[in-house]
Amino acid sequence: MFQIINLKGDLIAAFIVLLICTIYYTRSKSFEGRNIGLVITSFTQGLLLSVIFPIYLLYAPILSLAYYLFFCYFGVIIFMFKSQKLEEYNDNKLVQTLREIPEIKTFEFKFRKYTGKDSLNAIVIPPLPFISNRYQISFGDKLISKFTMEEKVVVLVHEIGHALKKHVLLKSFLLFLVLIGLIFLSFRLNLLVLTYARSSFVLFDYIITFILFIIGIIGINLISWYAEYDADKKAIQLTKDIKNFESTLLKLGEDHPDKNYGIVINLMVYTHPLLNNRIKKGKEIYGNL
Ligand SMILES: [Zn+2]
Repeated sequence: MFQIINLKGDLIAAFIVLLICTIYYTRSKSFEGRNIGLVITSFTQGLLLSVIFPIYLLYAPILSLAYYLFFCYFGVIIFMFKSQKLEEYNDNKLVQTLREIPEIKTFEFKFRKYTGKDSLNAIVIPPLPFISNRYQISFGDKLISKFTMEEKVVVLVHEIGHALKKHVLLKSFLLFLVLIGLIFLSFRLNLLVLTYARSSFVLFDYIITFILFIIGIIGINLISWYAEYDADKKAIQLTKDIKNFESTLLKLGEDHPDKNYGIVINLMVYTHPLLNNRIKKGKEIYGNL
């Protein structure tokens, strides 16, 4: 009895230590390193949670995935609330150029500006009940200073493309389907293992857990890759400006270079497709206009 209590105490202590490591890691590392670290810690944390709370023993991959998702979007959630207090960004020429695109003529949005180490970027936040009644597009100051007017238009139309195609809603719905599918699969597979292995939790079970967790991560990133390609397509269709589309992505690559690890690893560590592939696809779309 005492041994069981001690073991539970040790597991909780291990969970807390890993939690602190995750928070430190997600805040300090580059995007790529952060994601690799997050995959490893999420998997371990899911297993620990499933042992600490035995009623969730069969759902370790789901717990791992929930942990992964929380920390993946942790920064975005914080940014959502912080962005309401950000300084407004005024660029009449940019707004005027945007309004010349018929589909964007009546699109309601507010510009804001943010600073920091990830400021070579733009973030779009949909209207939020009680917080804001229109889309907010936040520009990083590095992006503002490094990009030309035409390149800013491409970035903006890409971000507006996410809004016009309702990607947040689509992503949430597909994510829900992935999680439901995984809950079902993990329950069925674990039940099979329990029946045939006649043991509560065996090595084979850990392997299944890991495979299901990886399938979940790949599923989530595939949804995100689809949304990125779709927003790129919208940006090219509306601006018909492939030259600045390419230079925009090349400039982003100077600050956040991406490496090709092969499709499976890429799908595990990148929430966005490789920049080179986006340029290649963009050129195909432009060719078919
Ligand atoms: Zn995007």
